Amino acid sequence: MSVLEIKDLHVSIDTDQGAKQILKGVDLTLNSNEIHAIMGPNGSGKSTLAYTIAGHPRYTVDSGTITLDGEDVLEMSVDERARAGLFLAMQYPVEVPGVTVANFLRTAKTAIDGEAPALRPWIKEMREAMQNLRMDSSFAERNLNEGFSGGEKKRHEIVQLELLKPKFAVLDETDSGLDVDALKIVSDGVNKAREANGLGIMLITHYTRILRYIKPDFVHVFVDGRIAEEGGPELAERLEEEGYDRFLSGSGVN
Ligand code: ADP
Ligand code: MG
Ligand code: MG
Repeated sequence: MSVLEIKDLHVSIDTDQGAKQILKGVDLTLNSNEIHAIMGPNGSGKSTLAYTIAGHPRYTVDSGTITLDGEDVLEMSVDERARAGLFLAMQYPVEVPGVTVANFLRTAKTAIDGEAPALRPWIKEMREAMQNLRMDSSFAERNLNEGFSGGEKKRHEIVQLELLKPKFAVLDETDSGLDVDALKIVSDGVNKAREANGLGIMLITHYTRILRYIKPDFVHVFVDGRIAEEGGPELAERLEEEGYDRFLSGSGVN
């Protein structure tokens, strides 16, 4: 049982006009095995939260804390965060010429575990993970992210989830650009990772569509850098019907 705790988090970014405050006091606690949907209008700070957890250098934490089982995440390098059990999907968005998916996955696994996995069982596990996501085995030999379609990138994220077995995953807009079939396959992969490994999930999404396939235990609505409302799955259903209008009226945000 693990816990990821975010307390009174204030984050700003550097802009040409100086520092701009984006997160204005976020409190959020995730336990193992829980799915938290982070919803909200565009520009409300959802991705800023994801990047801050990931340790992206552009984002400055002005105050507040993020801890994983009591350890200070904000003190950790990006690599240390991964070793501690955080999976941040946007951590490896770059194309890496000459590095295949298979190389990358084995290197990542080795870095996280501190030792290389035994080759034969590893290859079997990698093949199975790819089959589960209906990916052709030739995918393993492709260069990392080179010419990946949106759907291939998302599937590759879920393959990593299955193989790297993190404690918590932050998935930002995992549903964007997926057709319904791909959405089902990817959702299935996320649900399996929770069942098999007790993964805790922060599922960031603007739309309710993916929540038909990945059932959240908790829903948090971001508005203007703060959590404006929290509830259970019924809150997502309400948002599907009503949209975000009632949160935005009069706030000056659009
Ligand atoms: P969301 O993911 O909810 O759409 P973001 O975290 O991407 O929101 O953005 C939150 C706010 O930060 C927005 O007002 C956006 O305009 C601002 N922002 C994000 N990135 C930048 C940037 N690179 N330069 C200036 N403002 C930015
Ligand atoms: Mg956005
Ligand atoms: Mg975003």
